[in-house]
This record gives sequence, C-alpha cells and structure tokens, in this order.
Amino acid sequence: MLATSSRTEGMIVQAKILIVEDEPAIAELLSFNVMQAGFIALRAEDAPTAWQQIRDHAPDLILLDWMLPETSGVVIAKQLRADARTCDIPIIMLTARGDERDKILGLESGADDYITKPFSPRELMARIRAVLRRHIPIMPDENVSAGGLELSPTTHRVTAKDHSIDLGPTEFRLLQFFMTHTERVYSRAQLLDQVWGTQVFVEERTVDVHIRRLRAALEPAGMDNLIQTVRGSGYRFSAN
Ligand code: CA
Repeated sequence: MLATSSRTEGMIVQAKILIVEDEPAIAELLSFNVMQAGFIALRAEDAPTAWQQIRDHAPDLILLDWMLPETSGVVIAKQLRADARTCDIPIIMLTARGDERDKILGLESGADDYITKPFSPRELMARIRAVLRRHIPIMPDENVSAGGLELSPTTHRVTAKDHSIDLGPTEFRLLQFFMTHTERVYSRAQLLDQVWGTQVFVEERTVDVHIRRLRAALEPAGMDNLIQTVRGSGYRFSAN
C-alpha cells in the first residue's frame, strides 16, 4: 500500500492509525473515515490485540477508546507511555464521557488529545492531523561545531576548514542532528523520528540514501568518515 505522493525525495508510505475500539459499529465508522482521509487503518478490540498490532505494525498514531473490556484505554495509554518502544506514539483518547475531570485524567494518562463521542468525522480528522503535526521535530537555531565542521542554521551554511559544503535540506537536518548528538548510535527509525518527524512517513532505507548523499558531500573535505555505520545498529557521528 504505497502512496503516490511526491512531497519529499523520500519514499513515502501512508501513516498507520491503530483504532482500539470494542464497539464494532464505531470501529467500522472510524476505520472508514481514517481510510477516506488517506491513512491505513489497523484495528484492535481489546488490549492484547492492540499490543499485537503495535508490535507487528508500529502504528504512527493510536485512537484509543477509554471504555474497553478488561483493560481500559487509560491503563493502555499509561503502559504505552512507560515503554521506551511506544512512548512516542501519539494517542488520541476516545470517550463517551465529557466531563472535565475525565478529560484531565485522560491527558494525564499520556494521551495527546481527547475527543468525546459522538464526534464529527471532520473534527476527528482535524485532531489527527494536528497531533501528527505536533510531532515534527524542531531543530535549534544555534550555530554548532563538531568534528571540524561548522554549521549555521540561520545561513544554512556548512564549512569544513576552507571548504564550503553544499547540502540538500534533508542532509542539512541530518547533519545538524548528528552534530548536536555526537558519539551516540542512532537506529534508522530513531533518525527518521528525530530528523524527518513522525508525521512524515518514509521507509527506513530512505535514511541510507540520505546518509550516502551526506557522506558524498563531506568527501571533498575529507570529512565523510565522521558519519560512521554501526553494523546492525545504525549510524553515529564521531570525531574519534
Ligand atoms: Ca468501548
């Protein structure tokens, strides 16, 4: 199910939205609206199925019903937030309850937003888009120097000794991230989240493409070895 969007140079796939809802009619309606909006809909009717779907499909956002059999949506949200692998997945809590205390409890459990049933599909989609957008990482404006490179976000310039390095926008963000997070290994998935943002849905091999371009740009200055491949793990920026 590859989207045909050409928004970035990456290979874009559709965002996966997991709908955790035990009432079949509501689950069906949600799923229909999510697909209409161009997302992939995944479904689960209880906590065990939700965790299975999360493990198998790594959803980009979870629509989580509060009232579920056995384990409530609030408990699931807390568990998602407590787990390093799932703590960054945006959650929108769905509930029939409308009072303020419940709203606060829902948000305190780790939900990013909250929507009360019955809701209009248009409102729900607006909330989904807003929550996905909030997860775009913002890069700092300060100049940074690392490994003999100087990077200036305001002028969009990178220099190495007397070399000026020409980079595309994605390579620039990637290098900025590395220069502000040196010596640590990042997996492709982590780099996607940190550099591309969780709202842009690109495949992991896209990272390799941009790493190659970044190295090629650094090569004339003899700096390409700053970007190291750590086999089986990902990439690291290291001056050592
Ligand atoms: Ca329910």
